Amino acid sequence: MQVPLQRVPEFAVKDPTRCCMVEIHLTHLICHTCFKRQEKLHRCGQCKFAHYCDRTCQRGAWLNHKNECSAIKRHGKAPNENIRLAARIMWRIEREGGGLTEGSLVSIDDLQNHVENFGEEEKKELRADVESFIEFWPPQSQQFGMQYISHIFGVINCNGFTLSDQRGLQAVGVGVFPNLCLVNHHCWPNCTVIFNNGNHEAVRSMFHTQMRIELRALGKISPGEELTVSYIDFLNVSEDRRKQLKKQYYFDCTCEHCQKKIKDDLMLAVKEGEHKPSQDMVKEVIQFSKDTLEKINKARSEGVYHEVVKLCRECLKKQEPVLGDTNIYLLRILSIVSEVLSYLQMFEEAADHAKRMVDGYTKIYHPNNAQLGMAMMRAGVTHWHAGLIEAGHGMICKAYAILLVTHGPTHPITKDLEVMRVQTEMELRMFQQNEFMYYKMREAALQNQKIQVMPEPSAEASQDLFVKKQ
Ligand SMILES: [Zn+2]
Ligand SMILES: [Zn+2]
Ligand SMILES: [Zn+2]
Repeated sequence: MQVPLQRVPEFAVKDPTRCCMVEIHLTHLICHTCFKRQEKLHRCGQCKFAHYCDRTCQRGAWLNHKNECSAIKRHGKAPNENIRLAARIMWRIEREGGGLTEGSLVSIDDLQNHVENFGEEEKKELRADVESFIEFWPPQSQQFGMQYISHIFGVINCNGFTLSDQRGLQAVGVGVFPNLCLVNHHCWPNCTVIFNNGNHEAVRSMFHTQMRIELRALGKISPGEELTVSYIDFLNVSEDRRKQLKKQYYFDCTCEHCQKKIKDDLMLAVKEGEHKPSQDMVKEVIQFSKDTLEKINKARSEGVYHEVVKLCRECLKKQEPVLGDTNIYLLRILSIVSEVLSYLQMFEEAADHAKRMVDGYTKIYHPNNAQLGMAMMRAGVTHWHAGLIEAGHGMICKAYAILLVTHGPTHPITKDLEVMRVQTEMELRMFQQNEFMYYKMREAALQNQKIQVMPEPSAEASQDLFVKKQ
């Protein structure tokens, strides 16, 4: 897509054909209108499937939920999210037609479906989806041909966009945003896409037009320069990125980074100097890392965190003498172990690993990469909790600067970071003025005593000064 603009600081794609969905395994935890995670949700009395914060959110959802509600009731249960997303798109087409609607640059009918590129397995899945769809689709709604239904599933398959919760931590839904499908992929893009379900009240007052998908510029863009986003995480060597893009999006990436294999050397770095390891040794350690990562993912999904830590420590021991600081297999282990140790409140060890992780990431990622920003935030918070206030504050500032670009100032995560930035700045000042007093305060805070000296940064910042260490 060619956009004749010099700068695109915030180009919010207004998408009338937007159809958001809630992931099925979280449907009872998340409001189906505003995607906010809530303790107490109210269930739709009709289908007993949809959940909402309250009447306001329920009213906001009704236009999109009305048909779905009676279909679920008739069907007996809610089908999977692909079927539900397809059905929502079809009901929208029934209301508005499949052609261009106001504000959209491309219609659902004109989007690519890549069905002809499907392999055997994908074709089988597609047939199963179409069958389930036909079972779910009510006879009184407009009827569509098999080919058109396949087209819609093909579109979802290659244009579906994952939506994460307000803290950016968990995937809560999937949606199709036709305007966004026009933005091509580049491994080193000039834009990023972010889902902003923003301020809760503002969201609700706008009812079902609430969700915002933003295409945000990562830096200065020259006139006539094509806008691009990355469909995948950059933290893979060019060959693996190209494989992934081919498999998921059916094209060969010809970007400069893939052609010249830029940064592949960093991602595969090995120890330099006197004890330079042999090729075979490197191969062995990488294979060991791959195998261990599989075991780690299994233990992690089962919630056996001490096992995750054990596996990571073992793997790091093998990697240390062989892999370089920016090697992605080392960085993957560092990322997991710092996150899990942090969760287990072993902050000092976690901070150590987190520091090495962000140092490596900084050399690999674009300086305004959202993943880098999120990792920097995580590392900053870990340092803060470990009592390393100087490093912690520095990282939180860096993360804040990145997220201002990638997420924008109104995103809930950016707002969280701003609060943390103010808080850590205050603590750092205290630390610099009187180290002894600082440690006294910290100790008191860890014992959950009320501290009178510190002013509250703002009314809503009710976060504890320090997280209590067990
Ligand atoms: Zn809600
Ligand atoms: Zn309902
Ligand atoms: Zn590429």
